[in-house]
Amino acid sequence: MAYTVPKLTDYSAAAMEKAAGDLLSALGEEAAKVKNDSDWKAFRDRWMARKNGILTQINDQWLKGAPKEAKREAGIRVNELKAAVADIIDKAEYIHLELSTATSSAVDITLPGIRRPIGAEHPVIRTMHEIVSVFQKLGYSVAEGPVVETDYYNFEALNFPPDHPARDTQDTLFIAGQQSKPQRERLLLRTHTSPVQIRTMEKMRPPIRIVIPGTVHRNDPPDASHSPMFHQIEGLAVDTNITFGDLKGTLDHFVKALYGANVKTHFRPSFFPFTEPSAELYVTCFICGGSGRRGTDPCRPCKQTGWIEVLGCGMVDPNVFEFVKDNGYDPKKVSGFAFGMGVDRLALLKYGVDDLQYFFQGDVRFLEQWA
Ligand SMILES: [Zn+2]
Repeated sequence: MAYTVPKLTDYSAAAMEKAAGDLLSALGEEAAKVKNDSDWKAFRDRWMARKNGILTQINDQWLKGAPKEAKREAGIRVNELKAAVADIIDKAEYIHLELSTATSSAVDITLPGIRRPIGAEHPVIRTMHEIVSVFQKLGYSVAEGPVVETDYYNFEALNFPPDHPARDTQDTLFIAGQQSKPQRERLLLRTHTSPVQIRTMEKMRPPIRIVIPGTVHRNDPPDASHSPMFHQIEGLAVDTNITFGDLKGTLDHFVKALYGANVKTHFRPSFFPFTEPSAELYVTCFICGGSGRRGTDPCRPCKQTGWIEVLGCGMVDPNVFEFVKDNGYDPKKVSGFAFGMGVDRLALLKYGVDDLQYFFQGDVRFLEQWA
């Protein structure tokens, strides 16, 4: 009498145990009867067929039919059974293949095996993870946000007023058909990950320490150092009494963690609408060690200066806090710093790649160097 899946009315541990035991012993008996390929196929279909196979039936009858309080236990039990059934069916195949080869000796064991290549992290993602992990060890958490943003979060709340010239420095890709909406509600592809700073401050009261990795878009034609899609990591720390000294110490630690304890850092004044004062962080070139030369050749990545710019940073402009003032960010009481970097560019420098486009063309010959 062939095994059929019984309806369970009792979901106690003992009843489940017995039902599982019956199923497994039926499986074992049927497996022992597999003699050839067609036996094995019929056996596999009876147990594994997606439509009405025994595994599907136990899923439908035992798991879906279980009362709410027994669901968890039934789920664990059904998963164990599924794994056990798949395992026995594999073994049955192996055993009957062994038997058939023993009699026909048709398999040529000198043929090469099947190679299954293992995937690897993309170099940009790998760099991103390295950067994020430095900050995670400092107690930062990771925040993410939408790639399609409103003008309000991408510009206005970051102190880019309408018609401000700083908007022109970020060639923005706008979503079509938005003209009828007020400007602050119009959608665009975010030009930086900074909108997530505002979104996070709206949700979380100070103190906060976050890093924000993600993709951003700008209307830049692709070339060796530009791409319409690229990756940024931003950071934001807000608390009472955060100073420029905290910013310098944190970022100095960050580049040393990433490039080694020997690199030196220095800050040059800069401008960003959402920080005041603003700076660019330079590190001694990690390729030539700051000499500007590689042997007798000039060092190209640092343009022979011995310094490489790695990120922009500054103290959060009080005007930005005004937008989230009601959530505890009174600019008279809190202060903070923010920084942002282009991950793709850092990956280029780190791995000595001379054309950004290699990262996005999907050529396996290039990418498998990181495998
Ligand atoms: Zn150099």
